Amino acid sequence: MSDNDRRRLLREVSHSGMCSHPVRLTGEVVNLATGEVVPRQLKVACKDRRQSVCPACADRYETDAWIIVAAGMRGGKGVPDSVAGAPRVFVTVTAPSFGAVHRANDRGACVVRNRLDESCPHGLPRWCSVRHRTTDLEVGRPLCDECFDARNVILWNAHASRLWSVTVQDARRNLASTAGISRTDLGEVAQLHYVKVAELQRRGLVHFHALFRFDTQSPGEGSDVGDVVWALQKAILTATLREGDGIYRWGTVFDVQDLGGSLGDTRGVASYLAKYVTKTAGGSIELASRFRSRREIMLRVGDPLLQRLALEAWDMGLERSANTLGYAGQFITKSRGYSTSFGELRAARTAYWMSEPDADEVQATYAYSGRGYDDPRASDLADVMARLERERRIQARRELKERRGDS
Ligand SMILES: [Zn+2]
Ligand SMILES: [Zn+2]
Ligand SMILES: [Zn+2]
Repeated sequence: MSDNDRRRLLREVSHSGMCSHPVRLTGEVVNLATGEVVPRQLKVACKDRRQSVCPACADRYETDAWIIVAAGMRGGKGVPDSVAGAPRVFVTVTAPSFGAVHRANDRGACVVRNRLDESCPHGLPRWCSVRHRTTDLEVGRPLCDECFDARNVILWNAHASRLWSVTVQDARRNLASTAGISRTDLGEVAQLHYVKVAELQRRGLVHFHALFRFDTQSPGEGSDVGDVVWALQKAILTATLREGDGIYRWGTVFDVQDLGGSLGDTRGVASYLAKYVTKTAGGSIELASRFRSRREIMLRVGDPLLQRLALEAWDMGLERSANTLGYAGQFITKSRGYSTSFGELRAARTAYWMSEPDADEVQATYAYSGRGYDDPRASDLADVMARLERERRIQARRELKERRGDS
């Protein structure tokens, strides 16, 4: 490769924000002062959230997610600083069991042996005597893939978002009843806001982590975090979604944690939530994009359990969400009023880039003309550059921490 080639590639890649496969646009730009029309080709970043698809765009997405979560916790980006004093509760909800899975257990065997019922119809043991570590690959995987109730897993995933909505409504109703007022009256004086992140577990089920904030008119006064914890716990235990023959509820494993009013752990919580947003199930590329055919699932998905679940979703008519195993919701959502949005953050970034004071006013029209770079080497270069950039940032953060002297 000549130096010129190399420079051209570098320029192309950095203009597209180090995106692995940018969207190509063609159009024309009209200079409104001179009337001159110039044809223009443009590559814009793909904005994909998944690390396995586009490292650079996923990084930017993770940063935006971090800002959205953090702004809702401590103010900024159009959110008043008073939110910092509001009660905050961290919630994790999971799906019910659809078959035994391997578990990490410090105190003993993974699944206890039952002498009366030792093996499943497929000849596999119904028990496991291993003392797993949380990092073991088996953890979270079914003891028998065949026994695992794929159909109900997919149905549950497909209904999880609506079950969540029911739960939030129930929690608001519970808060109102504690205060002895109607749900509508509560809305007048206090709001329960949240930001929530979805994650696909290794067993193929979606679960949610969410951060709730309870805003009252007089922060600090009369807003007891205990009431919020109770309202959420009760809602998680009782929320029920009925649809057709199905009844959907949360699993027995859930967590409701009072984060207190302190800002101490804002960074930690925000990073924790933001990092989930860029993951695909098992971090794999297999499920990164929509499938076009049943055959493609069989070819692309090597993991037997994930393949079985994706095929089940496809056969149930959920083709468009087969790659998310039936889950059709967004991976990060928030109630209106929690904080700023991805759209607003992007608009602010674009406005900043466009603000060239001397430029003539121009009018531009663009149309989609494809994906990727003209030179396939550019895509590899983009991946390498994005990874280096990420490492550089992690290193810088580590050094900053060390200098501050906290661990
Ligand atoms: Zn990209
Ligand atoms: Zn086990
Ligand atoms: Zn079995």
